[in-house]
Amino acid sequence: MKQKKYEEYLRKTLPEEEEVECPECKLKFYDQFNLLSLASLKFCLLCANRNVKKETIEEKYHVNKN
Ligand SMILES: [Zn+2]
Repeated sequence: MKQKKYEEYLRKTLPEEEEVECPECKLKFYDQFNLLSLASLKFCLLCANRNVKKETIEEKYHVNKN
């Protein structure tokens, strides 16, 4: 009974309408920019930056090796 009341309390205090979890870092975001990034890239902004950087770095390494 107590736990049920606590869950109800959480539901009321934490609005989870527009929360999206990033599949990469498992963090939840609710701001417009991260939601847009998650909708288009399936990453939050931080993970998107990390992945883009990783790809460009690998590309640069290839260019340097050749
Ligand atoms: Zn992320």
